[in-house]
Amino acid sequence: MTFISNNSINYLQFSIPDVAKISEITKDVFWIRMPLQFKLDHINLWLLRDKINNQPGWTLIDTGLFNQNNKIIWKLIIEKYFFGLKLQRVICTHMHPDHIGLANWFCKGLDDNRWNAELWMSHSEFFNGKTYSLEGKLSSHHENNSRGLFTLNFFYSHGCNIKTNKIKIDERSNYYSSMVPDFPISFHKISDKQQIKIGKSKWKIITGAGHSPEHVSLYNNKENLLISGDMVLPSITSHIGVFPDEPNGNPLEEFLTSLNKFKLLPKNTFVLPSHGQPFEGIMARIKQLENHHQKRMQEILSNCKNKKTAYELIPKIFSKKLDNHQFFFALCKIIAHLNYGWHMKKLRRFEQQGIIKFETVI
Ligand SMILES: [Zn+2]
Repeated sequence: MTFISNNSINYLQFSIPDVAKISEITKDVFWIRMPLQFKLDHINLWLLRDKINNQPGWTLIDTGLFNQNNKIIWKLIIEKYFFGLKLQRVICTHMHPDHIGLANWFCKGLDDNRWNAELWMSHSEFFNGKTYSLEGKLSSHHENNSRGLFTLNFFYSHGCNIKTNKIKIDERSNYYSSMVPDFPISFHKISDKQQIKIGKSKWKIITGAGHSPEHVSLYNNKENLLISGDMVLPSITSHIGVFPDEPNGNPLEEFLTSLNKFKLLPKNTFVLPSHGQPFEGIMARIKQLENHHQKRMQEILSNCKNKKTAYELIPKIFSKKLDNHQFFFALCKIIAHLNYGWHMKKLRRFEQQGIIKFETVI
């Protein structure tokens, strides 16, 4: 085994699976990569050998985005690597479209009902995802699109010029349901600290908040393997944002608190993340993530000596030109830091004529 060292993080040199190929991690765990059409251009998915009621089959962890191209890729993988065995369950780490997009298609047995697989998810992730998916569909039938107006008001309150950005914001309001048009009808609930058996192995559920409401990671003690989902990523930071649904939320606090759970794992835990490459060095990575958020908080505090809106902070914090997708992610991220500072009483929050500004407490 060879490692590529990046500070204190070691990437184990597994070959990155090509499109429609799989790469073996252990004899029961396989790595699949699906394309994403964003700047972040891929998601890692994990296929595990399973056996339920004495029937051998497969469990899939996360699905990739809902689109025709991915369905074609999946059919090639199933043809080549499933050896005629059925998919028995789909576990979704969380409700984001790249993780759950194809869950319904998988659960109902693709286009020809070839199997019936259960969806396993945490309670909050299932109902949040289902609500977003349905809400988008319902509001798109109304002329007075309430979700659209609500989203518009939220971004307006954070200083966004809604006249120049209206089209951009409208695009965002039904974004989730356009990406997840098809949501499974029922699920099997999994919860924190629960042990689940997949094939011969036991996996412990570790839930985390902040990136999404009740994100599920899975830890296999015997193999010392962690399927971390989006909670701990090696080369990018997980998106932590405040969204219109919970404008006063403090997801950054939730995320940092959740990271503490991962500090209880062995130092040499081998991490299988949803983006980037499998790595070792989880403690060092958590430290880097904590430092990143600390540094960002300091930048925001020094920029808010005079009252600022979240919108005004974007060019001060992000020097690169942002596309529409990145712009809204950046805005929600900044609001997460502002709310974090506000809840910690390091920032004061003012609201005047519907516009929210923050000022550093000296
Ligand atoms: Zn995510």
